[in-house]
Amino acid sequence: MSRVIVIGGGPAGMMAAVAAAQKGHRVLLLEKNEKLGKKLYITGKGRCNVTNACEKDKFFENIVSNPKFLYSAFYDCDNLRLMEMIQNAGCPLKVERGERVFPVSDHASDITAAFQRLLKEKGVQVRFHTTVRDVTAKDGQVTGVRLTDGDMLEADAVVAATGGLSYPSTGSTGDGYRMAQIFGHTVRECVPALVPVEIREAWCKSLQGLSLKNVTLTMTCGKKQVYQGFGEMLFTHFGVSGPLVLSASSYYGRCKDKESIWFTIDLKPALSVEMLDKRLLREFEENRNRQIKNVLGRLYPAKLVPVMIMVSGLSGEQKVNEVTRQQRQCLVEATKRLSMQVKGLRGFEEAVITQGGVTVKEVNPSTMESKQVKGLYFAGEVLDVDAMTGGFNLQIAWSTGHLAGTSIP
Ligand SMILES: Cc1cc2nc3c(=O)[nH]c(=O)nc-3n(C[C@H](O)[C@H](O)[C@H](O)COP(=O)(O)OP(=O)(O)OC[C@H]3O[C@@H](n4cnc5c(N)ncnc54)[C@H](O)[C@@H]3O)c2cc1C
Repeated sequence: MSRVIVIGGGPAGMMAAVAAAQKGHRVLLLEKNEKLGKKLYITGKGRCNVTNACEKDKFFENIVSNPKFLYSAFYDCDNLRLMEMIQNAGCPLKVERGERVFPVSDHASDITAAFQRLLKEKGVQVRFHTTVRDVTAKDGQVTGVRLTDGDMLEADAVVAATGGLSYPSTGSTGDGYRMAQIFGHTVRECVPALVPVEIREAWCKSLQGLSLKNVTLTMTCGKKQVYQGFGEMLFTHFGVSGPLVLSASSYYGRCKDKESIWFTIDLKPALSVEMLDKRLLREFEENRNRQIKNVLGRLYPAKLVPVMIMVSGLSGEQKVNEVTRQQRQCLVEATKRLSMQVKGLRGFEEAVITQGGVTVKEVNPSTMESKQVKGLYFAGEVLDVDAMTGGFNLQIAWSTGHLAGTSIP
């Protein structure tokens, strides 16, 4: 029996503690907050999209950074095993659109409650209001942890499940990165991801509150397309947000020249340029003597009409029969390619996850153990792994936590 300390009572830490205790180890879980799963509580808008019930191939397709590193972890505890575990712990689950899995109760707190029952059942000791300052080691082997109050706690193995930097108010303040760096671990630069995006164009602000459904969003860096998706997005006072934008933001880090990043929206992806032109012509034929601003409301949401008029070089007061062929073509072009320049990402306070973290090359993918120091394990968002929305990020936390816990000899 080893003495195991798990740092962090988020999903990765709770799972690691349960898995290590299941193996017969004596486990102490240290959490700086007053309760477990503070971030988990706000996931999925309080409903917790706990995982995704997809096939394994789709799971890996949804991992943005270092999917291969996660093979062993996912095979050790995949989505189906996780769902079984949570249901057996008394929290029934349901599968919704896009195979997103939620508790039947729609309460994220029920997932934490299920893990609390498991932790109790396996005899894990939990200490709240306890912040770890660093991990201690001697001759390349972990010896325990030092708390911020100076206390030293001994252990044969330590799991660092401290999370990333996003939503720091939940306790995720990047402590694990510093702990890792002390042992020579490289930490890949951390940037916010799944985060709203700031836009340079001033007209964006006038669209605040407008939600666009069934549009295609393309993100380009110079001439290179780095993301394309179909779905929903939202305009805000600083730029854009919503599912498509959050997904696109995860690819921002891949763009070297940040000044050349553009978003292009296809407002009518179901119509080809020719079809759209015909549609406009028909509309114009029927409304020849009306002002253009009073006609375009049939094609675009009301808030968008002045913007479409402006970017197409039209005048709102212009009569439809005065619109030139060239102006009509500009309108078609703007509809298919409404472009705006990305100014930057919003901060960690608004980011669903952190991209970057402890470099996976220095962590054994079969065990989650550090290659630098024996007995130190990493799990969850502290690692340089991240995914799209849909329950994939939590599955990363559960899988890596489980593998770390079961790998402790
Ligand atoms: C608003 C929001 C919604 C989200 N919704 C979803 C969703 O629906 N589905 C999904 O898959 N993902 C979602 N995510 C992402 C998901 O929450 C994270 O991927 C996941 O919580 C990471 O788990 P973790 O255990 O690695 O880290 P965390 O959940 O961040 O947990 C880390 C824990 O460690 C503790 N800790 C840190 N440092 C120390 C220290 N020095 N000493 C002691 N304790 C410490 C922290 O207090 C914290 O409790 C969402 C994220 C946010 C912000």
